Amino acid sequence: MSDCLFCKIIAGEIPSKRVYENEFVYAFEDIAPCAPVHVLVVPKKHFASAKELTGADAEILSEIFKGINEVARLTGVSESGYRVVTNVGRDAGQTVLHLHFHVLGGKLFGADFG
Ligand code: AMP
Ligand code: ZN
Repeated sequence: MSDCLFCKIIAGEIPSKRVYENEFVYAFEDIAPCAPVHVLVVPKKHFASAKELTGADAEILSEIFKGINEVARLTGVSESGYRVVTNVGRDAGQTVLHLHFHVLGGKLFGADFG
């Protein structure tokens, strides 16, 4: 999608701090981190949000979660634990309409989801 911020980041048109990349996913540091580790894992294929995923996207979903595990390992939170969040739509506070998974770690989270 030509007008999408994360598509531009994936294409290298907007700079980002890459953490991990494979054929299907791109992972980069969040520009406004909410935790010592805050990485966004995004599919290279554009989906507006998790709402658009169907059974036909099983391979991409599997690759996303492989990417998330790889990011956790690379950032050193694999053993200590981390939180994975994806926001869908207005009430969840989604601000970028390209499916992304926040990987948050390096601190102790409460049970409060806000
Ligand atoms: P969400 O609110 O779930 O849509 O999350 C969007 C995330 O993208 C926020 O945590 C922002 O800080 C992050 N973000 C916005 N622009 C950039 C950028 N240029 N590079 C890295 N992260 C960004
Ligand atoms: Zn996009």
